[in-house]
Amino acid sequence: MLKRSDFIHLHTHSDGSLNDSIITIPELIQRVKNMGQKGIAITDHNSMINIPLLVEEAEQHNIKPIIGDEFYIVPDREKFFSNKDRQRYHIIVVAKNNEGLKNLIRLNNDSWKTNYFKSRAGLNMSVIDIKQLVKYHKGNIVTSACYYGIIPKLLYDNKKELTMIYDAIKQTYKDDFYLEVADHGVEEETKVFKKLIEFGKKNNDKIIVTQDAHYFHRDQALPHEVLISTRFNYHSKFKYDTYEYYLKTSQEMYALGFAEKYYKNTMEIYEKIEKYNLIKRKNSEKVSISVINESKITFLELRKIAKKIIMYYNIPKTEWREFIKGMKSAKNKIKFFQNSSFFEEINEKYNLYKIIPALLGVKNNIVADENRVIPQSLENINFPIMRKGNSFITQWPSL
Ligand SMILES: [Zn+2]
Ligand SMILES: [Zn+2]
Repeated sequence: MLKRSDFIHLHTHSDGSLNDSIITIPELIQRVKNMGQKGIAITDHNSMINIPLLVEEAEQHNIKPIIGDEFYIVPDREKFFSNKDRQRYHIIVVAKNNEGLKNLIRLNNDSWKTNYFKSRAGLNMSVIDIKQLVKYHKGNIVTSACYYGIIPKLLYDNKKELTMIYDAIKQTYKDDFYLEVADHGVEEETKVFKKLIEFGKKNNDKIIVTQDAHYFHRDQALPHEVLISTRFNYHSKFKYDTYEYYLKTSQEMYALGFAEKYYKNTMEIYEKIEKYNLIKRKNSEKVSISVINESKITFLELRKIAKKIIMYYNIPKTEWREFIKGMKSAKNKIKFFQNSSFFEEINEKYNLYKIIPALLGVKNNIVADENRVIPQSLENINFPIMRKGNSFITQWPSL
């Protein structure tokens, strides 16, 4: 029988994850403790902004912090940039020790310095390629990520590059290479992972079970959806396929019904992780900041988003009339929106949960200095996303 403490989460997105999660670190550590799990990995998308906070909070509460990064990855960066379709996949790298952490930060830096691009939707993105993954391998563990992972996806699509990529990763990471399986109730995912399990068995790969967590509870799926569809000054139709991307208890994870061994393998990774030796710095230096602050968003779209938020929280008309009026008359609407303290005041007044903003000109400290190890966390502008105590949200506000 598996106990609560026989599983840990190795695939978790926090609010440092390019606005793709509403999980904050202090709450996360509390939740992990309450669930009786012994460790937690943070695997933000191409970002290491929450490392210092994670290590500090986790150690304070006797939880083992595990530092990871879910990268966007391509087979070859040159081909990627010469090709218009910009097909990219996922992969997770986890730091086993201090050397690994340095390499992980270098890898993250390299991705932003050399492989930065704007997606078709205008999002700021970066990728790594197989060569870089091999170059910075020392001290690190690789897991194959979600069903958009480069190995599962190429396998599922019967792509011939798979052999080369799989061999390169396996030969480099050896015993520190794991295949991930998960179940978020998505049909395609089930098919992909069925194939991946067969493949893993044939090749003697170790398999772990993960949960791609982007929020704490199922009822936070909608606030997360608001965030992801409005991030980076852009209003998109992007949404997750199910409401299952929440941080599950060990029991809920076991109920997914994977082989016991796969759950136990998560603990093998847990055992491998050494204590990170982070140097605490007061007001640690800001190293390099990429300011994401451009937008082609129109006033109408902006107003629609603002209204959506306002209505979502039932903010009385008297409170927001001035704000909308101000935005209408402002010369630079985006600037007005970003500089306004409206949402912060509302936040204070109504005591709403705070998360990293999607709309207010996100400053992402995504490039860290490899010699300093600790990237600086940023002061974040907060905006409300969910009323405290309002624990079940069933529908969108109509506009
Ligand atoms: Zn993924
Ligand atoms: Zn993920």
